[in-house]
Amino acid sequence: MTARLHVDLTALTANLDRVRDTVAPAELMLVVKDDAYGHGLDPVVRAAAAAGVDWFGAFDTRTGAAVRAVVGSGPRVFAWIAASRDDLDTAICAGLDLGIGDAELLEELGDAARDAGATVRVHLKIDTGLHRNGVRPEAWPAFVRRAAQLQADGAIDVVGVWSHIAEASDAEDDDARTVYEWALDEAAAAGIHPPVRHLAASAASFARPEFRYDLVRVGAFCYGIRSAGGPSAGDLGLRPIARLEAEVTAVHGDAAELGIGALDGLPTSLAGTGAHVGTAEGRRRLELVGETRSVVETWPGAAVGDTVTVFGPGLQGEGSSTDLAELIGTIGEEIAVRVSPLVPRVYES
Ligand SMILES: *Cc1c(COP(=O)(O)O)cnc(C)c1O
Repeated sequence: MTARLHVDLTALTANLDRVRDTVAPAELMLVVKDDAYGHGLDPVVRAAAAAGVDWFGAFDTRTGAAVRAVVGSGPRVFAWIAASRDDLDTAICAGLDLGIGDAELLEELGDAARDAGATVRVHLKIDTGLHRNGVRPEAWPAFVRRAAQLQADGAIDVVGVWSHIAEASDAEDDDARTVYEWALDEAAAAGIHPPVRHLAASAASFARPEFRYDLVRVGAFCYGIRSAGGPSAGDLGLRPIARLEAEVTAVHGDAAELGIGALDGLPTSLAGTGAHVGTAEGRRRLELVGETRSVVETWPGAAVGDTVTVFGPGLQGEGSSTDLAELIGTIGEEIAVRVSPLVPRVYES
């Protein structure tokens, strides 16, 4: 294997500034699920904390605890996937903010908090249509009343009400926001006035100011990954932070073989779609992706040991992870996250 993922932490910091400028006065939560979208959790979190990011979105509680270990006690670390008492104890122990979108889990959390003698910061999740672990509107009024009781008991502190939206069509997102506003009103009627309301991820945080509320949860854009079918990174004022490279391992006739393949995370379906890699002589078509090797059209002077760019800013003419994703009907995040953990990450700052 000759693949390497270069991660530009200076570009990350510039993107963080750009996102924060765009969404202000709302705050930024940097989403770092899936090993910071494949870029490597610890270096990304460390650089972001040094740049003053004070909210991190961790997905599960174990990742949340890992983020806490890197950032120390200051920043807020939000995890929204907890399935067991163990997960809840992990969250309490690491001082996480917890997203709760299930009435039974809320009860378990009340017990866990009482046992630990802790008050847990909670963000209540309403299902605004995506049907991913949120409380359905019909169950919401009872849910927020129960949360208010647990808050009065000192087991929880309800700091947030939130939801996740599809960001696929403005009309659907508008419907989701209507449900969200209703959920805030119901929470207020139960005596809950959360200081941190959050709804938007990357796309809506840039395109829909009314979706920003107090905080936006942004992953893709912070890594410079644009939305499939959306504006270019340049138009958004963002730069891709990762560059996937590989080396030429053989040259035969009009084909150059690269030391990167499906086992490194390159989708086999990319071959023959018009996907290109960047070489010293410009773009060359990707013709075949095998398990550990790929084949591209060769170029004058191609030699074993030459470096090509598979995605990201590097040699001339290559595309972004989203450019590749669009060729096979997926999203740029998917291409980034698929890069095998065995591919070395090289950090530049
Ligand atoms: C992944 C995720 C985000 C970030 O989405 P991007 O489009 O990458 O910005 C935000 N919120 C939740 C709940 C997520 O799962």
